[in-house]
Amino acid sequence: MKITQDFHIHTHCSCDSANSSIDEIVKGCQAAGIKEFGISDHLHTKFNMPDLEIARKEFLEYGPVPGFHFGIEVTCATQWECEKIAKRDFASCFTCEVNGKPFQTMTPIDGIMYGGPANGSLMIDLTKEDMDRLGIEYVIGGVHKPNYTEQTVPTMIDDYFNQSCFLLNHELVNILAHPWEGLGFWSGYSIVTHDIADYRFDAFSKIPQEYWDELAHLLVSNHKLAELNRCNICNKRGDGIIARTTLEKMAEWREKGVKFTFGSDLHKGGYPLRGESSISECEKILEEYGFTDDDFAQPF
Ligand SMILES: [Zn+2]
Ligand SMILES: [Zn+2]
Repeated sequence: MKITQDFHIHTHCSCDSANSSIDEIVKGCQAAGIKEFGISDHLHTKFNMPDLEIARKEFLEYGPVPGFHFGIEVTCATQWECEKIAKRDFASCFTCEVNGKPFQTMTPIDGIMYGGPANGSLMIDLTKEDMDRLGIEYVIGGVHKPNYTEQTVPTMIDDYFNQSCFLLNHELVNILAHPWEGLGFWSGYSIVTHDIADYRFDAFSKIPQEYWDELAHLLVSNHKLAELNRCNICNKRGDGIIARTTLEKMAEWREKGVKFTFGSDLHKGGYPLRGESSISECEKILEEYGFTDDDFAQPF
């Protein structure tokens, strides 16, 4: 198979560590034979909207390029945090332990991680009007953090599942980003310790089959696409359990009629992607699990 699309690329406008310029992305994709591609910077909440405004401005200034699209990656957020951010009530944004002491940042750049009501109402902080205004062609929806639930394996599996279902039932979402990414991180205490030994990689083997089946059902019946994310399928952590589980289950999804997008989730540098997660490496891995060109679709 040949990967000819990449709909998950972050630019230097993204609120995180991404640093690629639009010129690097366009030239790199073209040189690598990627024919359809799009930039998709993060919108965790409206707090990140200025980043998207700048990305859109740069996209327009660059001028039209065949196959180059403008997308967005939205986080499954909570009503509680979006209301707080709308009121610019940032007092309790993000607290974690640093060297045994509580550390509080002053901006909710990733949303408000702690303090909300467990299992409260979910939302994405994006409207149809925002999409029209910014010319957003497609929406990748991702689970990036807990809905203030307890950080244990069973509670986090349920939380991820509920958020994924919410995204797949949302009319603005086209693609489910990297299903279950971060489950091992959030299920343990790695957020506090920053120690990989505290990741709960075993969580991936504990996801009930009926959860996978229900997500496949929602993907097909709601006409959404599932993302085969480079960072998941090439993930060597936990003896490869993340990559193995993702690929095995997505191969099952494929047999149920699910269609996919490919996403490099590029944050650093540009194409060509090198080493153990290069495009040719991804192609080899996807072929091993029986994927062909026909399994991929476009999100618009
Ligand atoms: Zn993501
Ligand atoms: Zn991303």
